[in-house]
Amino acid sequence: MKSNILKIGQKKILDVGATLREADIHGKILYVSDPIVDTLYGHIVRPQIESVGQIKVDTVEQNTIRYAMSVAERVIATDVECIVGMGGGRVLDVCKYAAFIAKKPFLSIPTTMANDGIASPIAVLKREDNKPKSLGCAMPSMLILDTELIATCPPALIKAGIGDTISNYMALKDWDLAVSRGKEVMNGYAYMMSKTSLDALMKTQYDSITPEFLDVLANSLVLSGIAMDFAGSSRPVSGSEHLFSHALDYYCDTQNLHGFNVALGTIAILKLIGEDYTEALHYLRKFEVDINPVHMGIDEDTFVYCMQNATAMRNNRYTYLHEVDLNTAVLQRLYRDLLTEL
Ligand SMILES: [Zn+2]
Repeated sequence: MKSNILKIGQKKILDVGATLREADIHGKILYVSDPIVDTLYGHIVRPQIESVGQIKVDTVEQNTIRYAMSVAERVIATDVECIVGMGGGRVLDVCKYAAFIAKKPFLSIPTTMANDGIASPIAVLKREDNKPKSLGCAMPSMLILDTELIATCPPALIKAGIGDTISNYMALKDWDLAVSRGKEVMNGYAYMMSKTSLDALMKTQYDSITPEFLDVLANSLVLSGIAMDFAGSSRPVSGSEHLFSHALDYYCDTQNLHGFNVALGTIAILKLIGEDYTEALHYLRKFEVDINPVHMGIDEDTFVYCMQNATAMRNNRYTYLHEVDLNTAVLQRLYRDLLTEL
C-alpha cells in the first residue's frame, strides 16, 4: 500500500482521521510528538487517531540516529502499522527515518515551517558526537500542513523557512555552473520545480506573514522537497550556501536555524562572486528575516573559516566556492561589508 496524500490549508488538522482512513490505515498507530506540541494540539489529534486504530504514544527526547533507530525497532517489534508525527523538525526527522527503516507509512504534521525538510526525502539526525548528519530516506507518505496552526508558531520558525527557499536561488546558479564545467548532469524537471518554488515566493503579492502567505510558503517548501525526491538528491535546492551552512553547523559556537544560515550564505556568496543580490535581499527584508552575522553570533574568524572550508563539507557538489578567490583578506572585507548592509 502506497499513498501520497497532501493537504495544505487552514483547519487541516481536523483531517487527520479522514487522511488515515483514506490511506486505509488501521491497527496500531504510533503517535509521536514532543511535550509542548502535544499539550497544545494532542487533544485535537489523539481522538482522531483513536477513531481509526489503536494509539501508541511516544515522546521524542532527542533527534539522534540512535533514537530514531529505537523508534523503528519499536515499530517493527510491536507490529505498528503507521507512524503519525506532529511537531517541528526534530520530531519529524526522527519519525521520517524510523518509518523509512521500518518500511511503514508516515503521516507528517509539521507545526512549524522552518525548512524544506517538511517534505523532503532526507532526515537530519545527530551522530554520537552530536554533529548533524543528513540521511537519505523517503518522503512522508501523508502530509498535513495546517496554515492557521503554523501561523501561531514562533515567527523565527517561519522566517527560517523563507530563508531556506531563497537559497534555491544560489543552489540553481551553482548547479548551472557545475553542469557547464562538466562536473554534474542536469535534471531539467527537478530544476524547474526548484525554480518554481523560488519564484512563487519571490513574486508573491503578500508582504506579511498571514495564513494566505503561509499557503504560498507551504507550497514552495513542499515543491522543493519534491524536487529533491525527483532528482534523487538535494542538488536542486542545495549549493554553496548549504555547504557554508554545514560548515557553520560544525564550526560555529552559536547554532542558528538552518534557514538563516543558508540565507546568509546565499547573499554572501552572490556578493562574493559579483552577482546581483538585491532582489533576494529585498525579499528577506520585506519579511524581516535578519541575517546580520553579528546578530547571529558569527564572528569574523568563524565566517572566514567556514567560507574557506565549506567545499570540504561534502564531495560531488561543485559550486562557485570551488572557483572563487577565498583569500582571507577578501573574505574579511566581505564580512565587514555584510555587517553594514544586512
Ligand atoms: Zn535547506
